[in-house]
Amino acid sequence: MAKMGRELAAKGVDVISLSFGEPDFHTPEHIKEAAKTAMDKNFTYYTPVAGYPDLRAAVVGKLKNENNLDYTATQIVVSTGAKQALANAVLCLVNPGEEVIIPTPYWVSYSEIVKLAEGVSVFIDTTVEQNFKITPEQLEAAITPKTKLFMFSSPCNPTGSVYSKDELEGLAKVFEKHPEIYILSDEIYEHINFIGGHESIAQFDYVKDRVIIVNGWSKAFAMTGWRIGYTASNSEIAAACDKLQGQITSGTCSITQKAGVAAYTGGLESVHQMREQFQKRRDIVYDLLKEIPGITVNLPEGAFYFFPNVTSFFGKSFNGKVINDSDELSIFLLEEAHVATVGGDSFGDKKSIRISYAAAEDKLIEAVRRIKEALAKLV
Ligand code: PLP
Repeated sequence: MAKMGRELAAKGVDVISLSFGEPDFHTPEHIKEAAKTAMDKNFTYYTPVAGYPDLRAAVVGKLKNENNLDYTATQIVVSTGAKQALANAVLCLVNPGEEVIIPTPYWVSYSEIVKLAEGVSVFIDTTVEQNFKITPEQLEAAITPKTKLFMFSSPCNPTGSVYSKDELEGLAKVFEKHPEIYILSDEIYEHINFIGGHESIAQFDYVKDRVIIVNGWSKAFAMTGWRIGYTASNSEIAAACDKLQGQITSGTCSITQKAGVAAYTGGLESVHQMREQFQKRRDIVYDLLKEIPGITVNLPEGAFYFFPNVTSFFGKSFNGKVINDSDELSIFLLEEAHVATVGGDSFGDKKSIRISYAAAEDKLIEAVRRIKEALAKLV
């Protein structure tokens, strides 16, 4: 959709893109300064595969200070983005034919990475009415003797849902009964959370050793292009991730790593400012979206996305063209409203579209106005 939007824009059409999965803010100055200093000090050589010692120490400090979680540096593997961290963990853990439970909707790459490992994705469907969160009963029902891994994000891309401590505990209790299952907890949207402190499933001691936390700098510090993320796991998994990564990419960029240290040791002021902006935008967009007839939307508690259910438009048409699913609706919105969104199919849910609110307020207001106007044309 981003590509189609750019093509339309190149033809002179005023396209508003709400399809992006990245903050529209700049990387904070103190982080950029640290990168410049790193270059000047010649941090331009190969790095240790799992990251510079000061960076791994900064991650250990962050996990202790912000999450009250105890890890040692040898349990941290820094990668070229959280995406590589995810891929490392899945490729190290999942053998061909083993099952990976993924709540739907999920972030696009989860099921594709499972395919690379020749694993089998087992999806648990959720609905907007249940705030897109699974229950312990749903989890229990999805487990089979072949289950190897459970993989989820909280706050979630694409729904913005955030599991509370109680909800995580409910899931952890299920895993307590199944000690053979690992849990990949993608916490990359940790700091874009509108309901208070971040909760990690790793806080429950009886599962912690089987949890692989994936996190990174992309979303919290507006550093998507720098490519840096990490896993925090037990030492055995960390050693395997280190070994795998050492044969594929080696350590991530030396300059980025120094910027990562500055981000993790330089305070969270800029992170909080960005979060406040996101929350303001979320409130504006929510008030506008819920007024659109036919759209069912919940109030996301984190990240920067809405995932409204648009099934009431299926079977309706415009100029003789019938809308059959959310991908077709998304294309209709691009062509008719000149607003780029993302159809739900890529997230494993054809009933909804993803609307990112990582855009300026005036653009968001205009985009939702256009969406409303275009949807009213469907009969
Ligand atoms: N996990 C989720 C849920 C994401 O949305 C993204 C990026 O969109 C990533 C992981 C990957 O982040 P990174 O830029 O650190 O590779």
